[in-house]
Amino acid sequence: HADIAMYRAKQSGRDNYQFYTPAMNEQALERLRIEGDLRLALERNEFLLHYQPKIDLRSGEIVGMEALIRWQHPELGMVSPVRFISLAEETGLILPIGSWVIRTACEQTKAWQDAGWGKLRVSVNLSVRQFVQKDLVSSIAAVLKDTGLDADLLELELTESLVMTDVEHAIGILRQLKELGVHLSIDDFGTGYSSLSYLKRFPIDVLKIDKSFVRDITLDADDAAITVSIISLAHSLKLHVIAEGVETQEQLSYLRRHGCDEMQGYLFSPPVPAEQFETLLQQKVDLMKSALVSSSR
Ligand code: C2E
Ligand code: MG
Ligand code: MG
Ligand code: MG
Repeated sequence: HADIAMYRAKQSGRDNYQFYTPAMNEQALERLRIEGDLRLALERNEFLLHYQPKIDLRSGEIVGMEALIRWQHPELGMVSPVRFISLAEETGLILPIGSWVIRTACEQTKAWQDAGWGKLRVSVNLSVRQFVQKDLVSSIAAVLKDTGLDADLLELELTESLVMTDVEHAIGILRQLKELGVHLSIDDFGTGYSSLSYLKRFPIDVLKIDKSFVRDITLDADDAAITVSIISLAHSLKLHVIAEGVETQEQLSYLRRHGCDEMQGYLFSPPVPAEQFETLLQQKVDLMKSALVSSSR
């Protein structure tokens, strides 16, 4: 085991030997293992998507869903993307994995539309490596063509750091994506460094308030102020605004009172497998509707 860790230290730091404690050793081994397994996961069909509903705060209807990747590892069980997405980024594996995510999400969304569930918009998270990939726009165009999904029903979630790294280049890509007709949203808004002057120039449609602000919205005056400011900023720029991580009725009422357009969170549903998402669609959000009625009193 020590040999593997040493080998890895040599590889990453050239001749730069490092001293490994047993705990670091374990970490390095886990990483090495996940990296190796990640290479095989696609062909072994171990990835799946979970879908989390997005609720319109005026109608109470499910208007779309975020597709979130899960990895069903043969021994480790369900592995969270938090544990493998950055590794997939570093190794470049995010490119084939990301393509699989976009294609699968579009196929599923088209299938739901064909089954009569109406026009649900699916959002997919995009990583930096995917964003700077030369054929991003043409590959998305190809997926839309192959699956027959309206471009309007696909939304890409980008982070501030992703678009701020090379602003002029980013604006060019975002424009091409807009020309295709897809929606663009800024994920985890408020946690990165975006400049307001650039925000105006990005052809985006949605700001997504990070769950760290939403969490303490009813307890912490600063988080509440930030949230209300993001909602009003979005509306001034003629953008839609959605809150992620909504867990309580109090948070929901607060967001609704302050004009937030949509919400996503455990209060309504965690991300669920496709079959379970259909059950949610079937329930016709009766529960949410009654919650909305009671919170408007
Ligand atoms: P994200 O895009 O900001 O996704 C929201 C995360 O918040 C998801 O975690 C979701 O399960 C979680 N969440 C939803 N509602 C609540 C709530 O009410 N309370 C709390 N505490 N959490 C809530 P998840 O699924 O573990 O994904 C984590 C991150 O991994 C995502 O953050 C995204 O950055 C990344 N990710 C997931 N799937 C993909 C993918 O297909 N491609 C890429 N590039 N990244 C992905
Ligand atoms: Mg997201
Ligand atoms: Mg987010
Ligand atoms: Mg987040």
